[in-house]
Amino acid sequence: MMHSTPLLVIGAGPAGYTAAIYAARASMSPMLVAGMQPGGQLTITTDVENYPGFADAIQGPWLMEQMRAQAEHVGTSMFHDVITSVDFSSRPFRCEADSGDVFMAQTVVIATGAQARWLGIPGEQALSGFGVSACATCDGFFFRGKKVAVIGGGNSATEEALYLSNLAAHVTLIHRRDSLKSEKILQQRLFAKENITCLWDTAVEEALPDDGKRPALRALKLRNTRTGAISEMAIDGMFVAIGHDPATAIFKGQVAMDEGGYIITEPGSTRTSVPGVFAAGDVQDHIYRQAVTAAGTGCMAALDAERFLAATHSAERQAA
Ligand code: NAP
Repeated sequence: MMHSTPLLVIGAGPAGYTAAIYAARASMSPMLVAGMQPGGQLTITTDVENYPGFADAIQGPWLMEQMRAQAEHVGTSMFHDVITSVDFSSRPFRCEADSGDVFMAQTVVIATGAQARWLGIPGEQALSGFGVSACATCDGFFFRGKKVAVIGGGNSATEEALYLSNLAAHVTLIHRRDSLKSEKILQQRLFAKENITCLWDTAVEEALPDDGKRPALRALKLRNTRTGAISEMAIDGMFVAIGHDPATAIFKGQVAMDEGGYIITEPGSTRTSVPGVFAAGDVQDHIYRQAVTAAGTGCMAALDAERFLAATHSAERQAA
């Protein structure tokens, strides 16, 4: 089936839904293709306490369901499909979906997000949201006064350890090598913290649960990467900070990206290297990565697309 739309939103996280809500309310009749994981990273989160507007903790999947319903109520056409290829060489942009449907779009908002890298060890996914996390800013608050571990040796791990050291009683940074690759200034701050310890040459082999009714992390099984020695460390929380992968494979060669595969947007806007194509949320942000910042850039993308269409129509009228 062939669809024509003034605005196609690709992705159904906070950025995509917010872009759709603003576009629908601006009478742009947006279409949104939700992708493989409608709701995005928040669907694998439990308690959310940092999304403004909710005095009590809410559940991530519930918040995303509300955003989806809101986008639909104001007039977004939803498609439970996956965009598999795009052609941004001329307008209208052609986007093909897994079902065989083709979307011809005057403007596109890319909001496909990013995924945290996980260690892939036993216990990690079962305890995700129950002591295991990939976001200190999101979940650190739940570990006030407790003992936590951060895994990784880059800027993310160093920053997460520093952030957590202001909340947790003690932070152990566990790295598989004997030095960090993060910026020197961050390392200096880390080494100066009295409640942060670095555990070098150590890999986490398993996240071990306690035997209570509700799943909870109890300890980490560790392996010394030099000697092979196995040990166990009692811990309340594990924060995996080994990088993120933006979901941009289908846009390679179509819009400009940085070396990490993130889509480059003009500072202060959501404009990409292709006029009429905008990017919002984690797919263009490797710094803040929050639901609220994603929603904010989703709003910006809808406003940018609306202005782009208005300027294009006005230029076309003048030329006619
Ligand atoms: P990163 O620089 O790629 O570092 C990933 C770290 O995780 C490395 O130390 C790596 O160890 C380790 N690691 C990877 N896979 C692992 C595994 N399976 N088990 C154990 N450890 C593993 O990722 P990042 O720190 O998220 O940074 C990503 C990009 O964002 C970088 O360009 C970074 O500079 C940037 N960033 C910047 C800021 C800032 O400017 N403030 C903040 C955050 C991120 P090895 O060294 O052994 O490979």
